Amino acid sequence: EGLPFAERDVAVVGGGQAALAVGYHLARELRKTDATVAFFDDRAGPGGAWRGTWDSLRLFSPAEWSSLPGYLLPRHLGDADPEAAEAPHRDDVLGYFAAYEARYELPVWRPVRVTAVRRDGDRLRVETDRGDVRARAVVAATGTASRPVVPDVPGREAFGGVQIHSGAYRSAEPFAGQRVLVVGGGNSGAQILAEVSAVADASWAVETTPRFLPADVDGRVLFDAATARYHALKSGEDPGRPYGLGDVVQVPSVRAAKEAGRLDDLRPPIARLTAAGVVWPDGTEESVDVVIWCTGFRPALEFLAPLGVIDDAGRVTVEATRSVAEPRLWLVGYGSWTGFASATLVGVGRSARVTAREVIQSLSFPTS
Ligand code: FAD
Repeated sequence: EGLPFAERDVAVVGGGQAALAVGYHLARELRKTDATVAFFDDRAGPGGAWRGTWDSLRLFSPAEWSSLPGYLLPRHLGDADPEAAEAPHRDDVLGYFAAYEARYELPVWRPVRVTAVRRDGDRLRVETDRGDVRARAVVAATGTASRPVVPDVPGREAFGGVQIHSGAYRSAEPFAGQRVLVVGGGNSGAQILAEVSAVADASWAVETTPRFLPADVDGRVLFDAATARYHALKSGEDPGRPYGLGDVVQVPSVRAAKEAGRLDDLRPPIARLTAAGVVWPDGTEESVDVVIWCTGFRPALEFLAPLGVIDDAGRVTVEATRSVAEPRLWLVGYGSWTGFASATLVGVGRSARVTAREVIQSLSFPTS
């Protein structure tokens, strides 16, 4: 079924947290105008990447540190379940996003996949699998989850076991009793290893020994430390060595596994894969049934290729969040390169506000 319109003032590509935060600020500023905005998201329902995370996933910060602008992630579950207040479950986030879209009446069209954005006179043409829409401004908020990165390890095709990326991991159950290698020393690797190692014979291939944050450091402390560093850098002071944002947070499952010694079986990066397992850099071989790649993601920006704005690193040169080469295009939520802490729930609001203001100014709609 086609879309019921062919023109919009603003087209937002994506329907995850970054898109919703932009939507909140656009809705606020545009409510007294007749501006038209549409969001296109290729998923079946609200939630963005949170729809695809593993079953047990909990946030590493309490509700008030895990909220989008305007409307706090409800803490009501906290009364019955103290853990839910301290570390909301991913299902809580999904419910919150659905409520958020409804509360601010954000017109998110689903499922609509944007295949390309092209220049079309004084407009940008947003091509989708349900028809084209000409827009005066485009905001890309497509996240990274749809572009998992797997390192180019020789022999990957020859491996006879199971390979999955962390983005496709749901629970440890299918791996019970098997020999599992978790690759990647970040938070995803640690959390997946923590549960897989409870039911399987699991080891951990890492480039450097993982750094665990102190047990009392959660997302709140990390965000404060990163904010202090941001301000110090801005004012030219020595920011010191902060907690690394890539360091492993000791969420309860990770702490328990660590204390039980289940995160200690460290290996170097794989040299190559064979039909039956892995070969280590020193030439020794080991049988493995399953490899879980916890090796990250890259920005999902393929649809911008016709604009010629994507650089070799797969990014777009921006000033704040606005493309330098195509000033009718903004990018929100992809990481620090599109705004400080913009890939977090609590951090994306700032980038979203700046973006909405610029978009509206560029359209010359009066703001409140
Ligand atoms: P997404 O959520 O990916 O939303 C983008 C949407 O656009 C998706 O629905 C996608 O399918 C869609 N899309 C992509 N391409 C197209 C296209 N061409 N056309 C149409 N639609 C498209 N952050 C925190 O603040 N706290 C946490 O505790 C936390 N824990 C995390 C745990 C894990 C395991 C991971 C992976 C991330 C975590 N994050 C956390 C980070 C962050 O919250 C997520 O990465 C977040 O989903 C990013 O939001 P986004 O809106 O930028 O992208």
